[in-house]
Amino acid sequence: MSTKSSIKEPDKDPEKPPEANVCAKPDCDKLANKVCTACNPPKTRYCSAKCQKDEFKYHKMSCVGSQKVNCFLIRAIAANGGKEDVDHIEQFYLRSYGDFYAQLEELQSRLGWRIIMEAGQFYAPDPKINHWHYMVFHPDEHDNQLVVNGIASRCLGRIIRGDVAIIRDATSDEVCCFPEEFSRRELLAAVEFYETHDANQTNRNRSGAAMADRMGYPSRFIDGVFVVQL
Ligand SMILES: [Zn+2]
Ligand SMILES: [Zn+2]
Repeated sequence: MSTKSSIKEPDKDPEKPPEANVCAKPDCDKLANKVCTACNPPKTRYCSAKCQKDEFKYHKMSCVGSQKVNCFLIRAIAANGGKEDVDHIEQFYLRSYGDFYAQLEELQSRLGWRIIMEAGQFYAPDPKINHWHYMVFHPDEHDNQLVVNGIASRCLGRIIRGDVAIIRDATSDEVCCFPEEFSRRELLAAVEFYETHDANQTNRNRSGAAMADRMGYPSRFIDGVFVVQL
């Protein structure tokens, strides 16, 4: 595997096929032109989705995209100059996770934000997961000096400026059980979901479904419309 660490980062131009290399699956020597999108550069490469899937149980132990923490930052500008969503997402372990006001203080002091606000929430791609959501904290939203955060804007359905911090939070105070730590891979799946799903409509539907669940009413989506059966 050590010979693979010197391979070059794949070409960022989506029109051009990435450079060919050998598949990372040990018993496969086919040319690899697919990458693990959750990896830090140099990204691990595969010849096919099948090889990537077969190898995932081993790869996830070393892939930074699979490491779980309780908070991530989505940077308005990627630190490494990359253009993909993954290049904007950084691990950020929150010592005060779970204590709302302590979280605000910790984020504010460690990130050097003049003020901190709750920007909103977005849900996981799985339509059955409504009992928790991703909560977004951000610095002063009226500070026009800050660069627009494209990913956060997409997930919240409005313009968000500057870096943001993401944690998981229960949709209702009564909910206690959900995985508080999550991986960059999971967050990436969520932010990519909002490329094709309207954030405002999804948020309305999913918070409606969460409320219906709490009240014990069955609910479902019919042609994209959220329906509670009373
Ligand atoms: Zn990886
Ligand atoms: Zn292969």
